[in-house]
Amino acid sequence: MTDKKLEQVAYYPGCSLHLSSQFYDLQNKLIFPKLGIELKEIDDWNCCGATSASKTDDFLSIALPARNLGIADATGLSDIFIPCSSCYSRMLTSQTTLKNDAVLKNRINKYLAKKNEGRIEIKSILEVLLPLVESGDISNKITKKLNGLKPVCYYGCLLTRFPKDIAVNDDAENPQSMEKICNVLGAEPLDWNYKTDCCGASAAINDTETSLILMSKIIKDAEAYGANCFVTTCPMCHMNLDAYQDRIRSNYGISGHLPVYLLTELIGIAMGISPEELQMDRHFTEAVKLLRDIKII
Ligand code: SF4
Ligand code: SF4
Repeated sequence: MTDKKLEQVAYYPGCSLHLSSQFYDLQNKLIFPKLGIELKEIDDWNCCGATSASKTDDFLSIALPARNLGIADATGLSDIFIPCSSCYSRMLTSQTTLKNDAVLKNRINKYLAKKNEGRIEIKSILEVLLPLVESGDISNKITKKLNGLKPVCYYGCLLTRFPKDIAVNDDAENPQSMEKICNVLGAEPLDWNYKTDCCGASAAINDTETSLILMSKIIKDAEAYGANCFVTTCPMCHMNLDAYQDRIRSNYGISGHLPVYLLTELIGIAMGISPEELQMDRHFTEAVKLLRDIKII
């Protein structure tokens, strides 16, 4: 991780945060200014083409993220913050490919009004937050400790695993960044086995059963380790565990009920922001009751 202090970052929400996970976009725009970081959403961004382009068209799978990175380069800012794991993964892959392939970079740049310079540093939400933990800028803002919250941190399959020429700022199989942030908030993140396993999101439509089996394993393991909730940073990981939970429980005989929190929600609550302001009523699996039951709110 770099130790420079970020005051402004370019921000790429991606389609999920402007559509199905709008509350995650709102939460980012709510908490980061309070933590001293202004998010400057890049102009006229396009979908990064994650699954569709990477499965069907090699050129587009690099060119679509490259256009966004060209726009971000033109802002003159040093870093771009990308909350969605899928978008983050595609942007990093595109940037690394273009650094290693000048011919492709020139070919793509011929189409771009704002040329891709490969200059801006791409950061996940954990890479933006962790320096704020280390500097004390998060603990300074905490007014409510999340005592009694026992999450398992779910990184999903894309946040830490990349082609081998892309460096990752955490352990690929057993990452710890989210746990470090949860600890500062006063929560007790638990060790478990499925933190980087795939939930089968891409198969949810064409092979729903496989996707439900994968998610049932994730939920069973979390419960076996005594978790009372999940925490994640990816809108897609959140959506899957949140929206399909009732169906998984009835199909696989799992009892109980595990709220799925976005990390931004836990930070927001710890900073004294209300669940209403954070729009936490937009979860499919009820998420506010646990906070009341363990007297955090
Ligand atoms: S992750 Fe998917 S939905 Fe989001 S910007 Fe990328 S392609 Fe679009
Ligand atoms: S939603 Fe599922 S498939 Fe997508 S990154 Fe998260 S774990 Fe992986």
